[in-house]
Amino acid sequence: MESLIVKLAKDFADSEVAPLAEKIDREDWYPRELIGRMGEIGLLDPLHHGVPLAEAMFSLLQIARRSGSVALLQDVQGELVNAPLRLFLGDRYSDLLEDMASGKKIGSFALSETCCGSDASSIRTRAFRDGGVWRISGEKMWITQGLYADFFLVVARTGDLKERSKNISIFLVPRSSCVKAEKVEVQGNRGTGTARITFEDCEVEASHVIEKGWEAVKYALAIGRIAISSIALGLALGAMEEALVWAKEREAFGKKLIEYQGLQWWFSESYADLLALKSMLQVTCDEFQRSWKEAEPFVSALKLKASNSAHRIIDRMLQVMGGMGYAKGSRVERAYRDVRLTRIGEGTDEIQRMILFRYVENKHLL
Ligand SMILES: Cc1cc2nc3c(=O)[nH]c(=O)nc-3n(C[C@H](O)[C@H](O)[C@H](O)COP(=O)(O)OP(=O)(O)OC[C@H]3O[C@@H](n4cnc5c(N)ncnc54)[C@H](O)[C@@H]3O)c2cc1C
Repeated sequence: MESLIVKLAKDFADSEVAPLAEKIDREDWYPRELIGRMGEIGLLDPLHHGVPLAEAMFSLLQIARRSGSVALLQDVQGELVNAPLRLFLGDRYSDLLEDMASGKKIGSFALSETCCGSDASSIRTRAFRDGGVWRISGEKMWITQGLYADFFLVVARTGDLKERSKNISIFLVPRSSCVKAEKVEVQGNRGTGTARITFEDCEVEASHVIEKGWEAVKYALAIGRIAISSIALGLALGAMEEALVWAKEREAFGKKLIEYQGLQWWFSESYADLLALKSMLQVTCDEFQRSWKEAEPFVSALKLKASNSAHRIIDRMLQVMGGMGYAKGSRVERAYRDVRLTRIGEGTDEIQRMILFRYVENKHLL
């Protein structure tokens, strides 16, 4: 049975996200007011309101059904930024957590750099202590909401590059004149304010730091990977819904498309994938809540399977719709571009395979 929050997300997605989804994509338009609206009704960061992880993720799936872009903004705001802030800085930041959850403030998670996305522990952004404060300089790439963020969780190195993840901390850097943002135009998930961000000698108070921050980076990426898997599922579901309506209406060779068994089986296969992934999402959320560190293989397996299966489902649905699925204005066409990110962002397919192989190698099978 659907929980109240999932029903709320579904209704909200249909009534308030769907009418804006095409404008967000075509005009690369950042939906600032919609974010505030999601904050008002508790959908911007359900975890902040005590919603269990699985329910929060099934709500996100419903948003992604209508817009991958809006879902990605929720993922950044709630999972990549607020979740690690809550766990690692906690009560000291209750006002900021509340402002983020309500959409009054916008935050970005700034890890990736031009030099290194997958190999994140070799980032070059530097932080050093200067009396009672820290000073940060460096350049971050691909930062979602970077054009609009009020503050950034900046992952930076406090010592020698040779030490890799051992000397990495996270700094809470407010937007000010030391921060420069440059728009980066992307294929899908448009309207999410993707940017290259330069920090030029930004001063950060000592209390605004998560020291020995690699654990917090891993936590953010783990919960973010669950979120992006939910987005992949939602995009696939949205594409199936649209293609099914089309197949029931469209005629070819004197029959509705849906009457052809070849097409029926595409829907059956896709439905089986959706159900399998839904179960996997539930189990992964349960494992994560039990012990987020021990949930690592579940998270990587979910991300790999969800993004690739969603990719395949959406490709099938585009084929069902023929030229209409390739044309601008269809949900399927948008989902086809949006879903591609789910195999790259928050750790590529290859990075998930690398993580999984560590378990295979150490005979941590079932
Ligand atoms: C739209 C968008 C939004 C994003 N938002 C954010 C954000 O908000 N914050 C943030 O910090 N980052 C963000 N990213 C960055 C994203 O996380 C990185 O793009 C991703 O981690 C991959 O890094 P890369 O692009 O540098 O690719 P690379 O690391 O250069 O990888 C290139 C290819 O090589 C493969 N590869 C790398 N190492 C290995 C290996 N050891 N074995 C096999 N294959 C390997 C990769 O899998 C990939 O296929 C975003 C990216 C995009 C496109």
